Amino acid sequence: METLNLPGPLARAIIERDRAVISPSYPRSYPFVMDHGRGSRVWDVDGNRFLDFVAGIAVASTGHSHPEVVKAIQDQAENFIHISSDFYHSKWVKLGEELSRIAPFSEPAISFMTNSGTESVEAAIKLARYYTGRSQFIGFLGGFHGRTMGAVTFTASKPTYHKGFYPLMNGVVHAPFPDPYRPILQIRAGEDYGGAAVRYIEEEILGKVVPGEEVAAVLVEPIQGEGGYIVPPDSFFPALRALCDHYGILLIADEVQSGMGRTGKWWAIQHLGAEPDIVCTAKGIASGVPLGAMIARRSIVNWPTGSHGNTFGGNPLACAAALVTIDLIEKDYLQNAVVVGEYTQDALSEIMERHPSIGNVRGVGLMIGVEFVTNRITKEPAIPLRDRIVELAFQRGLLTLGAGKSTIRISPALSITQSEIDEGLEILEEAITLAEKGS
Ligand code: PLP
Repeated sequence: METLNLPGPLARAIIERDRAVISPSYPRSYPFVMDHGRGSRVWDVDGNRFLDFVAGIAVASTGHSHPEVVKAIQDQAENFIHISSDFYHSKWVKLGEELSRIAPFSEPAISFMTNSGTESVEAAIKLARYYTGRSQFIGFLGGFHGRTMGAVTFTASKPTYHKGFYPLMNGVVHAPFPDPYRPILQIRAGEDYGGAAVRYIEEEILGKVVPGEEVAAVLVEPIQGEGGYIVPPDSFFPALRALCDHYGILLIADEVQSGMGRTGKWWAIQHLGAEPDIVCTAKGIASGVPLGAMIARRSIVNWPTGSHGNTFGGNPLACAAALVTIDLIEKDYLQNAVVVGEYTQDALSEIMERHPSIGNVRGVGLMIGVEFVTNRITKEPAIPLRDRIVELAFQRGLLTLGAGKSTIRISPALSITQSEIDEGLEILEEAITLAEKGS
């Protein structure tokens, strides 16, 4: 397979300039400098072509620059680009109606539009405190919810996110997220691992640390993203919902990464047997235009005028892009995520048979994790090997990214085709083979 000589001269020059003026805090896995993209193909500034298995971390949900999305943005830009959330416009309302229609609630929904995932999470934290009059929260180890002060307090996937930033928000206790591949809790007779994780919350957290009556909400990713694309056992969410109901605690599903059709349903939690009270979304909602939303059951949205807001909320370009995105996902890509997602997981399971370094393949729809280990029995995470595979794949024209300690995440556009998956997996397998040989 052809190896590209990366980064090329134009990419190198831009990276040099970037170093001088852009915050060094951004994590950059490898030197890809984008020029343009179409669907699941992207080109760098030196003319090198890549297949994109990342979609800007689950953001370019309809593929890069889908013509209908581009047209919606262009048409809206010619009309008006901004009016501020002090006023009204029809696409904002239409988007609220659409989100209410697709929200995973058995009652209508109210949306607060944001500009990012972290801002959606902040809105959920504030609404939960306001509605319940309680101050405490439960989050999960391995969780990722963003980097603003409230959201980052819940984030517990790497200490880097906290180092140097204390004190964080007061009032968050973290529980173990039930990872079926790496269980850390003991299971009692008659229980499974999802049940054990919820029992831990009840006995160890509510029983020893924070009274249930003071907990406003549990904030949880239905499928952990940054933490390693971890799918919890089936029993986890129904038991968590029952616990929340018992103590009057709200259940907030952070679907920033797992939502908007990525799993083949609008929301990952719809596979997992529970109805949340609030859903946080962003990433894939507008095909790459910055937009997010905190979507709540109507009956809990009791905060008054002026209590929360933002300048760019309901930005017209973002709303225009989101409306077309929702339409495209509904018409074609939900189904594609199911079919191509299953195909990809099957193909990866076959690849796993040939490669002892793959310890686990998991996921739902097009949210798939491939975890690398040094030994399948001890399950020791193969961190340098995973990093090398990502690098070797890049050099061969495939964009992937890591998640968790030693997992590669596959989160392509929901429009990706089976033949593009075949092409990408061929590159990925070559990268795995080479990395296993120490190359
Ligand atoms: N929540 C989850 C589950 C995420 O995966 C992310 C980003 O990766 C966020 C929140 C934060 O989103 P943003 O980076 O848009 O603030």
